[in-house]
Amino acid sequence: MTPETYFETPLQYLKGVGPRRADEFTRAGLSTIDDLLHRFPLRYEDRSRLDSVASLEPGATASVMGEVLQGGVRATRRRGFTIFELALADASGVVRAVFMNQPFLRDVLTPGAHAVLFGPVESRRGGGLQFTNPQFELLDADGGDSADDDSRIHTGRIVPVYERIGGVSPKMLRRIVHGALQQLPAAFADPLPADLRSEMDLPALREALGDVHFPAADTPVESLNAFRAPAQVRMIFEEFFIFQFGLRLRRQSLDAEHKARVPKVDDRIRQSALRVLPFKLTAGQKQALQEIVADMCRPQPMNRLLQGDVGAGKTIVALLAALVAMENGLQVALMAPTEILAEQHLRNLSQLLSTSRFKTVALSGGMPAAARRETLNALKTGTAQFVVGTHALVQNPVEFNALGLAIVDEQHRFGVWQRALLRDKGLCPDVLVMTATPIPRTLALTSYGDLDVSTIRELPPGRSPVRTVAKPEGRRAEVYRLIERELGAGRQAYIVYPLVEESEKLDLRAATEMAAHLEQEVFPDRRVALIHGRLKEDAKDAVMAAFARGEYDLLVSTTVIEVGVDVPNATVMVVEHAERFGLAQLHQLRGRVGRGSQQSHCVLLYDRAVSRAGKARLKAVTESTDGFVLAEKDLELRGPGDFFGTRQSGIPTLRVGDLLRDQSIMEQARTEAERWLASGPAAAALVELVESTWAQRFKLVGVG
Ligand code: ADP
Ligand code: MG
Repeated sequence: MTPETYFETPLQYLKGVGPRRADEFTRAGLSTIDDLLHRFPLRYEDRSRLDSVASLEPGATASVMGEVLQGGVRATRRRGFTIFELALADASGVVRAVFMNQPFLRDVLTPGAHAVLFGPVESRRGGGLQFTNPQFELLDADGGDSADDDSRIHTGRIVPVYERIGGVSPKMLRRIVHGALQQLPAAFADPLPADLRSEMDLPALREALGDVHFPAADTPVESLNAFRAPAQVRMIFEEFFIFQFGLRLRRQSLDAEHKARVPKVDDRIRQSALRVLPFKLTAGQKQALQEIVADMCRPQPMNRLLQGDVGAGKTIVALLAALVAMENGLQVALMAPTEILAEQHLRNLSQLLSTSRFKTVALSGGMPAAARRETLNALKTGTAQFVVGTHALVQNPVEFNALGLAIVDEQHRFGVWQRALLRDKGLCPDVLVMTATPIPRTLALTSYGDLDVSTIRELPPGRSPVRTVAKPEGRRAEVYRLIERELGAGRQAYIVYPLVEESEKLDLRAATEMAAHLEQEVFPDRRVALIHGRLKEDAKDAVMAAFARGEYDLLVSTTVIEVGVDVPNATVMVVEHAERFGLAQLHQLRGRVGRGSQQSHCVLLYDRAVSRAGKARLKAVTESTDGFVLAEKDLELRGPGDFFGTRQSGIPTLRVGDLLRDQSIMEQARTEAERWLASGPAAAALVELVESTWAQRFKLVGVG
């Protein structure tokens, strides 16, 4: 067997793993020895110094090994709340341990069993000491090897604690991993170049694999539990390095295809831009525009994310970039997430460009065939320079005369867009993605093939932050008073209902009934409109446009108004069942108000049965109006996998790295990958390795 085939060995052939356990491993994403060895322990416990019972002190964390003397479950005065209590003896004395609400432990920690308890020690109310809810491990259960062997693996050292996988306990896993490491080939290839390892002072792979699972005695346990011991850092760095190296390779191959003409900027173009500008750009807008234009003027294709909170003024920046492209004879495409938004963009653009010589056209799903044909023809022949549309733009790839810049409003559809463009080889325009759901730095380094990021931090002058409160259903009357007060002052208000697919009919009915109730009983003197996803496009648009003109006071809606709609006179946003919305959605909805100079309000009405996660989201939104803070919070609450919902979005599948925890290692890996790729011949072996494994390894679209 070559060293490489050892790593590819299915787990079933490992000692202690039969077909049944192998199945459980597979379900948990572990098929081979390589997978197993790349599944880090959850944490580590220092059992190198077992404490004697006699030496225990309250307040310290300790581990003791001993024999269970007796145990019992007692009920408490609180209904359904039980305590399992046991006594454990070693040669020096007896200590108690209590476990809350785990009565089944009675059958696990039975008298006569040998166990290690690990955890904080407290004083007992009646005197003496106890462990409360300690970690524990049985020493002689589940048919291990000789007790001798076991004691070397499970005690008397820093031990790894794994996550249980199906029926495989943390302890069995420890034994299985130990077995796999015992048979590790004496020598095998290390994906990290030796020079790089020695420069960064990282251990070789073989050594690192051993130390990650069974750390040397002198490794500080705190550093292990922070995943910053050298062996762990090495493994994480390797994963990120290979990932970043692949991203760079992919970018290089795109560069080669970027045949579009490279724009130039001169005074004539600056004048043309100034002419369309209706206001002075904020400093953040200027900075972002400079970065974008500098990118466009480089021979490599731009791949840039423009992030700025709702209302920060991204559109005008994108439009100015578009002008640069069009002045250079290139075409521009803008893709919006919904029809309403596409039309809003189209209206704004046509107005801004009305004095220019450029022609803007629309492309949407619901378009009559004749109009569609005309649009397609204008783009193909180049008589239209700017197309605004929904994802209809990519469904049947549109032919362009000279597409130079692709703009995506809101990143969610970007994966689709990018693939569609890539499919069309040779079409490799500059790409600008606008988003109000800011992507935390780590994700920007990973998603979509390495985006550069421009950020607009401030809002245009004269805006005051929206006042946000969360209120339980029971305080609805207060909310109506707030609405009445604002409407009385000539402002407008939104009331938004959640609409989820599973209960679409019910939700729709709720929204419809609510609109009727509000109009007839609560605000009989006000004009109330209803808008929902079941309405035809033109009906929706008609209502939206009438609301924007001030012909309605109150708009009841399902989440179709989520993004982008601009009605500066609206000052109240009420979100019904706010607990059912995601953090980003809530922030987006709130962004519909606070667009004028008036003080605006956002009320999040929630159900009494709100979950803990729901509560955390509401709290986050009331505490901050900063989209960047909220995005970080969102990531924390949901985890990066959920951030965009789909795998195609460009979040790599990682085995040892963690995008949140290991941000700094990712930065370092990126720098090194760039440097290494540029190093020429030394990189050749890596290129081969990465090209053959990258896509599979990270479950992403391929490198080349
Ligand atoms: P978003 O970043 O959410 O896409 P928009 O581009 O829609 O924001 O801009 C929000 C509003 O602010 C628009 O009405 C726009 O005309 C206005 N706006 C943008 N930039 C400025 C500015 N520098 N000064 C004044 N108003 C601005
Ligand atoms: Mg916008």
